[in-house]
Amino acid sequence: TPRRTAVAAVINRISSPQTIEFVDVPAQEYYSANVFTKSVMKDRLPKSVFKSLIRTIDSGEKLDPEIADVVASAIKDWAMEKGATHYAHVFYPLTGATAEKHDSFLSPTSDGGTLSEFSGKQLCQGEPDGSSFPSGGIRVTSQARGYTIWDVTSPAYILENPNGTTLCIPTAFVSWTGEALDKKTPVLRSMQALNKQAQRILNIFGHEDGAFVASTAGPEQEYFLVDRNFYYARPDLLNAGRTLFGAKPPKGQEFDDHYFGAIPERVLAFMCEAERELFKLGIPVKTRHNEVAPGQFEVAPVFESANVAADHQQLMMLTLRKTAEKYGMACLMHEKPFAGVNGSGKHVNWSLGSSSQGNLLDPGDTPHDNAQFLVFCAAIIRAVYKHQGLLRAVVASAGNDHRLGANEAPPAIISIFLGDQLTDVFEQIKAGGANSSLPSGTLEVGVDVLPPLPKDAGDRNRTSPFAFTGNRFEFRAVGSNQSISGPLVAMNTIIADSVDYCATKLEEAIAKNPDGLNGAIQTLLSEIITECSPIIFNGDGYSEEWHKEAEKRGLLNLKTTADALPQLATPETIEMFAKYGVLSERELESRLETYQEQYCMTVSVEASLALSIARTLIFPAAIRYQNELASTCANLKAVGYDFDTDTLDSMTALVKALQEGIATLEHAINDVSATTPDDECRHCCDAILPSMLALRETVDKLEEVVADDIWPLPTYQEMLFIK
Ligand code: ADP
Ligand code: MG
Repeated sequence: TPRRTAVAAVINRISSPQTIEFVDVPAQEYYSANVFTKSVMKDRLPKSVFKSLIRTIDSGEKLDPEIADVVASAIKDWAMEKGATHYAHVFYPLTGATAEKHDSFLSPTSDGGTLSEFSGKQLCQGEPDGSSFPSGGIRVTSQARGYTIWDVTSPAYILENPNGTTLCIPTAFVSWTGEALDKKTPVLRSMQALNKQAQRILNIFGHEDGAFVASTAGPEQEYFLVDRNFYYARPDLLNAGRTLFGAKPPKGQEFDDHYFGAIPERVLAFMCEAERELFKLGIPVKTRHNEVAPGQFEVAPVFESANVAADHQQLMMLTLRKTAEKYGMACLMHEKPFAGVNGSGKHVNWSLGSSSQGNLLDPGDTPHDNAQFLVFCAAIIRAVYKHQGLLRAVVASAGNDHRLGANEAPPAIISIFLGDQLTDVFEQIKAGGANSSLPSGTLEVGVDVLPPLPKDAGDRNRTSPFAFTGNRFEFRAVGSNQSISGPLVAMNTIIADSVDYCATKLEEAIAKNPDGLNGAIQTLLSEIITECSPIIFNGDGYSEEWHKEAEKRGLLNLKTTADALPQLATPETIEMFAKYGVLSERELESRLETYQEQYCMTVSVEASLALSIARTLIFPAAIRYQNELASTCANLKAVGYDFDTDTLDSMTALVKALQEGIATLEHAINDVSATTPDDECRHCCDAILPSMLALRETVDKLEEVVADDIWPLPTYQEMLFIK
């Protein structure tokens, strides 16, 4: 069987390990070596050009088109010195993947030679033939023109390959009418919106330097590693990224012996090399460790400005996948590659800050700083409460549906964990409310200092989808395979909206009474917390009681992608995104359409795969074994033995169930009565997925009875434990 061959190959590899090339160079020497960093810019650009560029990067000022040619020529020289022959505009289509189109620097000359060229125009704008990227109807093929536009705020870098290197330029991808066809454009727009509103609060608190307030993101990436021999012997892993069948192994994760355990040698070698590659790209990876499930690991960088963090996250996923191959493994980013053990998420740590004010979610040591912190914090509570449906929708995917709400990941109900101390602070403020005479035990905003809040991020509450962790919020419902851009756009925009709300209230109050800031804040916070406190939950998000309690509180519980995606285009969401110029109604609807289509495609591919595996691998194995049992029975009967047919009977029943399961699934796949995208999603969710699950149950039972030497698929035991 392919399975036996795979096991033999893996064991062979383990007994003669690949020698690992270790490059003994201090990290300082290669860190950012492949990045067109600010310091490279400073060295290579005329002073005035450098200054103008920095203003665009740091303060979001419009790029001066005059400088493009000079910058292009400097980037080209730098890249060619590093061996680059080509440049590529890198963009981020709605598929969530990274796309690139490569062009050579060389142009032929009339005398038969060649000349290297790279103009400002080529740097600033490209025109990939992106007509086959999903655009949700924004672009019909006949007018498929889409442009990539240089994103100055995300540094250009060089991608190495043994046979040549390429200069990569991060770009936004828009249609010829200026509509966003990608995941980057809305991130940039939402960061602008958030900055604008945050400045108003800072002004109210007397910070008028105008330094750009950027949202920051630090994504923790979980992933699985399996040997590539197993990967190739499992058509489901290869094509769907997850196992569609597989009985629970005798030993799962219950021993907790993997979590933070010693990292296996081959895995550590892989991690070291992946980190070295990431360092060269200026990606500040910081932590690595084993995760809870066997074969599961995590990597996390130091946080960066959200836009750069999003680009770096995409590069990180690519690098992990690529490097794993070199070490004979496959890196699985799927949210639930193996049933019965933990899935993988991507915790997106989020905050906002500026070069002059630092992190705005740091509580601070003075009453004044605390008051400002509390206003931002309250705005976030309000944002999450008002837009819980949107937050749920931006983490919805076919893969994440298997993870959210299982016994390992936050539930599909969005709530905020504040921790006891901060909750208590808000409770006190609420008690004080708008009263002029504050009851005793009440915290007075702008006068009292907050009790020290726990600074360590810790794991005090892993069950909350949106947790305050001392100086930032951590959005834990994001799936391991997803681009973080969608979640960032949602957070930036809903928070901009609530910061706008708070700023307006406070500005109005100060206009009436210039000395009344503290009172106005007290009133505002009290109002927000009174209205929005149902979203705060510090208890166990995995528990059954929480589901009941959440329902009582009127919180949304959108269990599946089919339920959640329509939240992307509710009237409130459309209005908000339009108000801040982040996404127009058409852009939002195009996203809804694209993501619904992706969901249906994913489920359909999985269903066809399940069907073909069941038919061409499982069914033959099952009848071979059944036949073996039957001939044993016949032989025994022939020589006059007394025997019972128990095993043959149950095997026959399973084979029958398998045939029925196959028929039911096939029927569900062939049912094309759904006409709208909503109906198609519902059909995937309510008919196809349950039929796949029913089929799986039978197959997994078969795995436990069919003779081991016939069973075709590598087992969970083998994939998760043989390293
Ligand atoms: P834990 O597992 O306890 O959550 P990690 O160290 O694995 O902690 O990850 C914490 C993540 O939070 C890191 O990526 C870190 O850079 C990020 N982070 C810290 N401060 C901020 C901030 N102000 N904004 C965004 N992310 C932050
Ligand atoms: Mg974390």
